[in-house]
Amino acid sequence: MARILIVEDEAKIARFVELELTHEGYEVDKVADGRAGEEAALSGNYDLILLDVLLPELNGMEVLRRIRRESDVPVIMLTARDAVMDKVAGLDAGADDYITKPFAIEELLARIRVALKRREASEHAVKPEPEPDHHVLTIKGVSLDVERYEVRVGNDVIELTNREFEVLKALMENRNIVMSRDRLVQLACGYDFVGETNIIDVYIRHLRSKIDDCYGIKLITTVRGVGYVIRED
Ligand code: CA
Repeated sequence: MARILIVEDEAKIARFVELELTHEGYEVDKVADGRAGEEAALSGNYDLILLDVLLPELNGMEVLRRIRRESDVPVIMLTARDAVMDKVAGLDAGADDYITKPFAIEELLARIRVALKRREASEHAVKPEPEPDHHVLTIKGVSLDVERYEVRVGNDVIELTNREFEVLKALMENRNIVMSRDRLVQLACGYDFVGETNIIDVYIRHLRSKIDDCYGIKLITTVRGVGYVIRED
């Protein structure tokens, strides 16, 4: 059964909540000031913390901030009636929920169940795979981001048509390999492309005017009678 820590300086309230929670089957400890609350909460012994806001030694909001620096244990704040600022500040500081005093024990129990269930769900959730690094090809200061479909020279984004992009990508992926027009057409236009392969010459001319000519780079080399290549220096 879940273990719950009550941090509450009003002995009557603390005792009442302790009895009710114990009756529900929870294991309960209680402390009566902020410093003891911080220490106990960070001991790792509890599944949930009930944290009063107005506490001696260290106020509940500060206790919450300190807990959150080290732990994501669920915290339900006990706030004074109509202390709207406390609620907002508490949620901002990482409280899972709050309940306003005086509260009905059934409401508190319901909120505890929700917080514990949410906690359990997040612990069992499949952690998302970290995003893979962007697949970026870079040659002679020209970088081509395959996922973002973006070509840059330095900080400048180069506007390319889809096919210009595909031709450049094919050449950059096959750096130092001379690519025939046929091969480039297949890669850039698809295998079912119907038309003259010298369409590639047009795309190359556009790429050269947008990149080579603009930035004084010798990026794409013509191999007479064969095709094109991007050579790494
Ligand atoms: Ca109090």
